[in-house]
Amino acid sequence: MGYTNEQIKLIASIVYKLANPHSENQKKVKSMVELLQGLGINVTKSGMINDEISGYVTKSEIDDKPEIVVNSSHGNFRRRFTMAHELGHLILHFKWKPFGLLDDNHGINIAYRKDIESYSFLQRTEEAEANKFAAELLMPEDKFLELMDLKDDQELSEYFGVSELAIRIRKKSIKKTRGTNLQ
Ligand SMILES: [Zn+2]
Repeated sequence: MGYTNEQIKLIASIVYKLANPHSENQKKVKSMVELLQGLGINVTKSGMINDEISGYVTKSEIDDKPEIVVNSSHGNFRRRFTMAHELGHLILHFKWKPFGLLDDNHGINIAYRKDIESYSFLQRTEEAEANKFAAELLMPEDKFLELMDLKDDQELSEYFGVSELAIRIRKKSIKKTRGTNLQ
């Protein structure tokens, strides 16, 4: 149980490569919907009973593919992060393989993204891993390092299509893993 940050970074880069076979290296994700569909995942938008729920993964009733459902009342940047987060759960925790179907053992668990305080230890670990995966996918490290001293948080947010909060968290974790030379 549990993944290291390096493993999650590697898995995110492999997933990007599978979805973009002609791309030389990992770039920013232009469309999360297209990336997911390219991997064989159905994507739908829906209202949620509780607005704290950003999205969830389920098994499509039509074709047994995984289906990621995102909260239709949330903005574009938030929906992108939710989709990347749920993709992280699919691969890291449901053991789903790109282009594959979702088997019954793993398809019925619904992974919500909501207030983390109510989670158990295992759930918190999995939530943190899914967030890490989303950050590695949406803000690839090489590109982020290249731009982070040239642009401010708002420009980085626009460039990568994520919230400024996600940018600040990414900066912090990159500085931590890169040691003191960047601080
Ligand atoms: Zn989650």
